[in-house]
Amino acid sequence: MQLAGHGLGPVLNGYDAPMSRAVTVQALRVAVIGGGINGVMSAWALAKAGHSVELYERGTLMGATSSASTKLLHGGLRYLENMEFRLVQEGLRERAWWIGQAPHLAHPLEIILPVYDWSRRPPWMVRIGLGMYHWLSGDRSLGKHRWHDRDALLRLQPDLAPEGLRGGFTFWDGQMDDRALGLWAAERAREAGVRMHENAPVERIDADGGLWLSGSRTAFDRVVNVAGPWACELLRVSGIACAHTLDLVRGSHLILDRPCPAGVLAEVQGERRIAFVLPWQGRTLVGTTEERQALDHEPRCSDAEREYMLAFHNRIMRTPAGVSDVVSTFAGLRPLLRSAADPSRATREYVIEAQGRVTTVLGGKWTTARALGEQVAARVLKGR
Ligand SMILES: Cc1cc2nc3c(=O)[nH]c(=O)nc-3n(C[C@H](O)[C@H](O)[C@H](O)COP(=O)(O)OP(=O)(O)OC[C@H]3O[C@@H](n4cnc5c(N)ncnc54)[C@H](O)[C@@H]3O)c2cc1C
Repeated sequence: MQLAGHGLGPVLNGYDAPMSRAVTVQALRVAVIGGGINGVMSAWALAKAGHSVELYERGTLMGATSSASTKLLHGGLRYLENMEFRLVQEGLRERAWWIGQAPHLAHPLEIILPVYDWSRRPPWMVRIGLGMYHWLSGDRSLGKHRWHDRDALLRLQPDLAPEGLRGGFTFWDGQMDDRALGLWAAERAREAGVRMHENAPVERIDADGGLWLSGSRTAFDRVVNVAGPWACELLRVSGIACAHTLDLVRGSHLILDRPCPAGVLAEVQGERRIAFVLPWQGRTLVGTTEERQALDHEPRCSDAEREYMLAFHNRIMRTPAGVSDVVSTFAGLRPLLRSAADPSRATREYVIEAQGRVTTVLGGKWTTARALGEQVAARVLKGR
């Protein structure tokens, strides 16, 4: 199959590839396993590269981790402390892409970062971090951070707890409707030719490209395993070694039945961790937690996590919330690469590993899913 960059067909590996190079590509039959954001974006990139793509999702599209996020399109300010500059820069670039493509489902969000007497990070340290965050966003910046004194900050968010408040910063990130935006991306992937199969649990895969579904085997040129938290488990039941280990870390959120005039990112008192109080569809979203969990049961917000988040909320907001204010909770499992004893220090990077005709994706943020998809398409092509 001849793919050329002169409007004659899709360009190789991506969205921004130079349009002048003509490339000869043999279209492959590729199966993608996983209908979360990383699977959908991988399938889309592969279809744009000219391959014939079938996507298999055992439940419904965006039914797992990808609709249980904090709903931020971000570089991840706190990952700067872990020196994850590459990932932060990629996230900052990708957040702008999502907002540009789907402004009806993603928008810039100004977030307050208060500094209290008890905060572990002094204002000068936060200022350096925000300066770097802004610098790494380059020409994709959504706006510059600013320092506000205590009174100005309380005008922006009147419900911020005033005791011990020294002032604080505002900075910009993106907010999205993760499920709706993921389904929007799935629709674009469908338009590019991806055939989506929901309620299609893959039983196992073979390193030579076989995929087992309802007891029968279909042969593919390539199989891409993007099963999120279940990616290593799928390799295990298939008898294929996984070079990396996933650390599965549950994160829970609360939805409170009250409006939130401005989003807040704050330290959890007594910890280095940070958490959020954000506006969400006319209500307040509070999150999140980090609890290791096995795959053998559904991730759910525990009573202890609910108490922890209410305590966090009530420490930084003037009007306390109780259990009766919680209208719903949701939880998801972060598929983190095992890299640190403390989950909040664990890398948010992703890796792509190959075993025969099987390519497996481990880790990855929602925000960076398009970049990840492009990498997957390039790896599938390279592994020919
Ligand atoms: C609490 C929390 C907060 C987060 N907040 C943010 C945030 O604000 N911003 C951000 O950028 N990122 C955030 N993330 C990270 C982001 O949500 C995840 O990294 C991302 O959604 C993972 O997507 P995925 O496609 O890899 O996995 P998933 O969305 O879990 O998709 C994997 C899919 O594979 C399917 N599957 C599994 N096994 C099989 C099988 N055998 N056959 C067929 N299908 C199968 C599953 O049903 C699932 O739908 C957060 C994560 C968590 C948990």
